[in-house]
Amino acid sequence: MSAGLGGLRIGLKVVARNPCPDHGFVHTETDSCQKGYLGTTIKEHDMGLYAFAATLIANAFATNNTATSVPDITNTNRSFNANSAVSAILIVAGSGVTTPTFGDYQIQTQIASSSGSISATVNPTITNNTTNGTFTITGTFTNSTGSNATYGNIGIYATANTFSFMFAHDLTNGATGYVVSPAGTVAVTYTVTIS
Ligand SMILES: [Zn+2]
Repeated sequence: MSAGLGGLRIGLKVVARNPCPDHGFVHTETDSCQKGYLGTTIKEHDMGLYAFAATLIANAFATNNTATSVPDITNTNRSFNANSAVSAILIVAGSGVTTPTFGDYQIQTQIASSSGSISATVNPTITNNTTNGTFTITGTFTNSTGSNATYGNIGIYATANTFSFMFAHDLTNGATGYVVSPAGTVAVTYTVTIS
């Protein structure tokens, strides 16, 4: 992150790997053999969406019970009341490679089942230092579809009042995405920084 760049921002790191053709499994970053590695994408400014702002209003800044109306992932407006705690934080992936916009409400062409939707790990510890507060939201997809899958766009889903909302949305690798073979992986790290 650039020094002096204050505010609230979402960073994104995506690492895609196919199984190693020699060893038959997916290598980690520290393995000496790196065959199967597809690429890494790092963005300092991932796109945060309307629903993410709504949860901040509802949970951090709401001083009355005035509801905020937000489209859920079916594009149906739902009310966010004060203290609308969220649950079921998911990272979701789709094959679409259309450039995301702020008004997006769902993933593009979601990949089937657990290959395209995983529970996220939210780091419960905020990193405190003198310049910012940071926490991460992470998850790793495994392509279990049985055939090649294009991981083109990813996002964060959360549930509030039984409805699901998208909080962030971005392409993984421009207009091409990552074409991942069976049993390959896509590791996703969102980093939220407030400074
Ligand atoms: Zn290998």
